Formats: sequence, structure tokens, C-alpha cells
Amino acid sequence: MDDAILEQAVAIGVKLADHRLIRSSEGNLSLRRDENSFLITPSGSKIHALNQSDFVAVEFDGSHSKNHRPSSEWRFHQDIYRTQGEAQAIIHTHSEYATALACLREDLPAFHYMVAIAGGDRIKCCDYALFGSEELSSNILAALEDRKACLIANHGLIAWGRSLDEAYTIALEIESLCKQYLIARSTGLVCLLSDEEMQQVIEKFQDYRINKLQFESKGVLNG
Ligand SMILES: [Zn+2]
Repeated sequence: MDDAILEQAVAIGVKLADHRLIRSSEGNLSLRRDENSFLITPSGSKIHALNQSDFVAVEFDGSHSKNHRPSSEWRFHQDIYRTQGEAQAIIHTHSEYATALACLREDLPAFHYMVAIAGGDRIKCCDYALFGSEELSSNILAALEDRKACLIANHGLIAWGRSLDEAYTIALEIESLCKQYLIARSTGLVCLLSDEEMQQVIEKFQDYRINKLQFESKGVLNG
């Protein structure tokens, strides 16, 4: 693994803490290492105080390096890397607004065009299952079909990307969208975009997403 990528992962950990997406050890992040393994934050680690050497290498057979124990939630990271060939990084949070909506066991609907950032017309909330379980991993995979993010019932949020930056951008955006949606809903009846309107947005985003630089441009995220 390139040291520069691990350095970036440590820096993203600080940003996740600064933006309160992950408070202390309530969440985790991982990076694909190769075709059959990935690196993940250790169990109980403080996200704002990671070192490059803290990351635990986990093989797809479940074995792992002995420097630390991997996060107890390593299983859904593994299953996402196995099933999403493009996934290079995954961020999982218990961030406040995404978790609040996940505790209602509701999808984040098409109330704002940026909901399409995850690739669909809504962010799905997966069915509840015990954290770290195979059942939860299976539920998450179902909610992630054709999407890069989902809410986890009574638990939190997960986002993957073709880079760590992309996973971070999606997680940050969805937390903000959940906040906007809950505020709007608490004050009135939210107007949702139609299927046709969201399809137009999805097609426009696909044009922007020809490459990573275009995806990250301010024009896409703030236009
Ligand atoms: Zn969790």
C-alpha cells in the first residue's frame, strides 16, 4: 500500500472527526489493499488520532494482521469490496442526522437533486440486523444495489467510493442532506422531485462523472 494513501486516510480521519461524522470510535473507514484484502481502522480506535501503522490488513478469508483487532464491523466492508469491483474506499459513520433518519427506518427521498450523488433517486435504508453480523452485511448489500451509499436501520450511514475522497464527499453530503430533510419535514410538507426530474439529474451527473476530477468539481457539487 502506497504510504501517500495511508497518509490521506489519516488526514480524512481528522476531517471526519472535525465534521462530527465520526465521534471518537463510532464509525470506521477502510481502503482496498488488493484483489483479496483491505485495510481497516482497528477496533475501538479514535478516528482523529490514527497512525498509518494502526490500519489492520484483513484478507477475504477473514484472517487479519496481528498489529490490532480489526473493527468489529469489518464484515460489511469485506462484502462491499467483494461485490463492488470499483470500490476503493468505504466510510461508515453514526453521524447524527443520517442516524436520526435511519432510526425512523425511512429512505432519504428525492427532496433535493443532490440525493442522486449516491447514484439513485433515493438513499435507501437497509433492514435492521445486529452490528457486525452476516445478516446486516447482506441487508446493506441489498440497499447498495446500483448505489454508493445507504442508511443502516437504527445504526448509521455507509458510503463507498472509487477513491477515499469520493467516499468522504458522499458521506459528508448525505449527512448534510439528512439534516436538511429533517429540518424541512419538521416545518412543513416536503415537496419531492418526480421520477422524471430525478432521472434528468442522474443522467447529468453521469456526464460529470466521466472522470474523478470532473466528479469533484465545484460545478457538480455546488451547481
Ligand atoms: Zn456502526
